[in-house]
Amino acid sequence: MYQPAGVTTSSDFPIPSDMKAWVLGGPDELVLRNKPTPVPGRAEVLVRIDAVAICATDLQVIHSGSPASIQGGLPFNKNFTPGHEYMGTVAALGPHVDEYAIGERVSVEIHAGCGQCKRCRQGMYTSCINYGRPEKGHRANGFTTDGGFAEYAINHINTLARVPDSMSDAEATLVVTAGTSMYGLTELGGLVAGESVVVIGPGPIGLLAVAVAKALGACPVILTGTRPKRLALGRELGADRVINVAEENAVEVVKQLTGGVGADYVVECAGTEATVNQAIHMANRGGKVCLAAFPHDPVTTDIAHLVRNNIYLYGIRGEGRSATHRAMALMAEKRFDAAKIHTHTFPLSDLPTALRYARERVEDAIKVVVTTRQVNELARVAAE
Ligand SMILES: [Zn+2]
Ligand SMILES: [Zn+2]
Repeated sequence: MYQPAGVTTSSDFPIPSDMKAWVLGGPDELVLRNKPTPVPGRAEVLVRIDAVAICATDLQVIHSGSPASIQGGLPFNKNFTPGHEYMGTVAALGPHVDEYAIGERVSVEIHAGCGQCKRCRQGMYTSCINYGRPEKGHRANGFTTDGGFAEYAINHINTLARVPDSMSDAEATLVVTAGTSMYGLTELGGLVAGESVVVIGPGPIGLLAVAVAKALGACPVILTGTRPKRLALGRELGADRVINVAEENAVEVVKQLTGGVGADYVVECAGTEATVNQAIHMANRGGKVCLAAFPHDPVTTDIAHLVRNNIYLYGIRGEGRSATHRAMALMAEKRFDAAKIHTHTFPLSDLPTALRYARERVEDAIKVVVTTRQVNELARVAAE
């Protein structure tokens, strides 16, 4: 049985000393293994994972290693468990933890900073100077420390957000994605109501950026893309106007819709050279471009246009400044329905199929969720 010294457990939540976890071998090689159930330390809890959403970044990590990094190198053959968009139930408490109780449903954010470096002291823990150094207290679950494709994971209490009873497990996994969009628009961007926002690329982050922008009072909210079904979903989530770039010149249409000047914010979620350049030409003078995608190759950009027009360009990695808490508040209030982007559910034991659905967009998959619960149970909860 699992009963580490100093850790609080409950007979309501019996915890095995070993758990099932998917482990990354070589590139594209995942193996379901037994691992010791991890032990929470100070200010940490053990989360029983109930549902995990698959992110494009997981696919990238499993295939090419980056942007995950274990012991300063690629994460292959290091007994590493990926997965970062999960939710679950608090199953055990580290020493002296009284902020959460066993049995509470929580969703998580990825990053816990070291808490002692300059950036952490500024609240910018996603830019922790000790990134990738767990011995300093830094964690980025699914990137530098073990993640969610497992039965249990360790989370710092600062990375938890309570899930209301009315929210399904699957929807709760989407808080990370919504929180990332929110961080880019509000904490880093400074968005206030009435400002104009263009989102490039209707993937999960782009679609929820539309939803968050609309919920925060942005006007107009414009979404660009190529797939009609995704653009239609963008409309349902709050886009005032969608632009199919195969049919219209996105930069010209944005200019027309914004009185000829361009948008206050452009959130670039496609990650190609063409879309980065569209983004800077859609932004108005003094406007801001948030880079939320990872381009695969170096990008050539019209820097002179940025300089001449005082355009701010900034990258985001993840969901800092507790943006997940604010995203959770909007979702709990049903200000938008993030669950619209959840399309498929598989058992955790069938992760390879789930990854294939996400990678190949089988049956128009958007967010694919794996669960340790009965799939029909998850569906039932979601339907309630
Ligand atoms: Zn993600
Ligand atoms: Zn730090």
